Parts: sequence; structure tokens; C-alpha cells
Amino acid sequence: MTETPARSRTRRVMIGRVPVGGGAPVAVQSMTNTVTSDIEATVAQIARLAHVGCDIARVAVPDGAAADALPEIIARSGIPVVADIHFDHRLGLRAVEAGAHALRINPGNIGAEERVRALVAACSEASIPIRIGVNAGSLERDILERHGHPTAEAMVESAERHAALLEERDFSDIIVSLKSSDVPTTVDANRLMASRHDYPLHLGITEAGTLVPGAVRSSVGLGLMLADGLGDTIRVSLAAPPEDEVRVGREILRSLGLRHGGVTVVACPTCGRTEIDVPGIASEIERRTADIRTPVTVAVMGCVVNGPGEAREADLGVAGGRGRSVLFAGGREIGRLTSDDLAGELLRRLQDLIDERGKE
Ligand code: SF4
Repeated sequence: MTETPARSRTRRVMIGRVPVGGGAPVAVQSMTNTVTSDIEATVAQIARLAHVGCDIARVAVPDGAAADALPEIIARSGIPVVADIHFDHRLGLRAVEAGAHALRINPGNIGAEERVRALVAACSEASIPIRIGVNAGSLERDILERHGHPTAEAMVESAERHAALLEERDFSDIIVSLKSSDVPTTVDANRLMASRHDYPLHLGITEAGTLVPGAVRSSVGLGLMLADGLGDTIRVSLAAPPEDEVRVGREILRSLGLRHGGVTVVACPTCGRTEIDVPGIASEIERRTADIRTPVTVAVMGCVVNGPGEAREADLGVAGGRGRSVLFAGGREIGRLTSDDLAGELLRRLQDLIDERGKE
């Protein structure tokens, strides 16, 4: 018998209109890196994130100016906004008042119990969830001393302590994240948490690095957990534009069959036979189709020796030839392209295909 994935067994919470947990599709999150009080820049970045498929945006609220900006940011955001709060519970209260769709806090650094109580009461009243974000780098001293290192067990203990603070106040709309920059520790911590509790899990490998190493480490770490059935939301943390975090996150989900739709670009790795600018054309198509949700596959292959096979398998494909590339659609060769603007030509045909499918 196949075991029910942990994802189906987690409790369901809502972040705005996005369901999280209880078997809902895994949601992709990212975090803005604009100065939050710069409303125009922050709203524009959230719009760009939404455009490439971000489901939920997290926004840091480090000071009063950021809290002042929140109502307008939230009103203008097309996707739910999570307010990231540290230390000052009054900023959390202001974020709730501003209409934040969830709070991310670390109850351990909010301080006195009455402050946690006030935050919980506000979130309860507003019916918004709280994400408890445990980071291996900032565990409580007593837990760290007992475990010696930020181990998986230590991280889970910290999350349990924080969750208990909320549960004691009858607050149960809790999401938990356990993040470390160490992939095995993160995976072990989440497995342990899921074996003990039904809190929806937000997955991430923290401080994963720049684009390539960060994407690889996140893909391995998140891939292991997602394939295990863990994880209800994800964030790929990269020292790169947050739009890249969303692209990588979506690709991770798509590669595991956890997200469907959108344009899949198959591109050959190029070699001495390559006749066209494969990386340039493939990137251009990816960039200009990021907001398309219709499932379509486009193959960009560099030559007519090995290219036609793959191009035939795609909905639309091109196999590069010197001055005359071969175009395929629906498994058949349908003509030759002599244009210098192969990306533009493919994009036009892709749009026609999507329009046709829309009518079906
Ligand atoms: Fe080389 Fe052609 Fe294969 Fe691309 S499809 S890697 S150009 S042989």
C-alpha cells in the first residue's frame, strides 16, 4: 500500500486566497529585496514576482517606515503578502492592521509573553496564520547548549517550543519552517518535524548562495523533501534577483510533477555542429513566456543531425540549419525558417498555438 504523502496530512491554512497544506498545490514564495518603505519599488517587484509565477510574497518590516508603507503595498499587490517581523511586536501588530495575509515571526525573539500574546490575539482576530521560522543560525542559547550544535533535533525542539507558545493560546493556524544552510540538516529537521506534527511546512535552504550553487543546493535539498511528500510552500533563497528564486522554485516543482502548465523549453547543450544561437533563443523564449500557464513544450535544437528527433517530440520545435532552420509542429516538419529572428518567429507561432488551444 502506498503511504499517504505527509503533504496530504498537514492541516490546511490560508494565506490570503492561497491554500497552504492539507494537500493543496505547493505554493512558491519569494521575498522582496527592495527597501520596503519605497512603495513604488516594492509594488513593482511584487508585480514582477507574480508575473514569473510567485504565489506569495514576503516583505521585511524592519521599521516604522516599512510598516507605514504596508497598507498601500498590500492593497496594490496582486498576490498575498506575508510580513516578516523580528524583535518588535508592535511592527507585527501594525502589519496585521495593514492587512498582511500572514506573519512570519520567531516567537523566541519577540520577547515578553504578553507581546507574543498580543500578536497571537491580533492574528486570531484577523484570521491570518503565523509562520514560525526557525533558522539554524539563531537557535535559543539553552537549546544550542544542550545539543552542542544546531542539529535537526535542536531545530525541531525550537519549533516545538514556539508552536507551544501559540497553541497554549488556542492558536492553531501555524506554518513551520526549519532552515539551515546545511542541506542534510535541513532535510533531517523537516523529516523529524513531519513525523511528529501536522503543521504545514515551508521549505527552504537558507543562504543557499549565488544563482548556480544556490539553485543546485536548493534543488537537491527541496527535491529530497518534496519527493518524500514533505513541503506545502517553498522558497529558493538566492543571492540573486528574487525573480530567479521564483523561476528556480517553479522548475523544481515542475520537474517533480508537482506543478503543471507553462512553457517548457527543451534546448540542446550545443556542440561543434551548432548552427544557431541556442542559449540566446531558448532564454528569450523563456523570458517572454514566463507568464503563460498553458502547458506547451518548445524545443530549440542546434542542428539538423540530432535536432529533429527532439524537435518532433515538442509541440513546436526548431532544428538549426545554416541560414535555413527546420520548423516542426505537432510532430511534423512544417517548413523552413530563414529569418535571423528565430526567437521572434517561434514566439509568434507559439502564441498562435496557445490561442488555438484556448479555443478548444
Ligand atoms: Fe550538437 Fe546538434 Fe546535439 Fe545540439 S542537437 S548538441 S548541435 S548534435
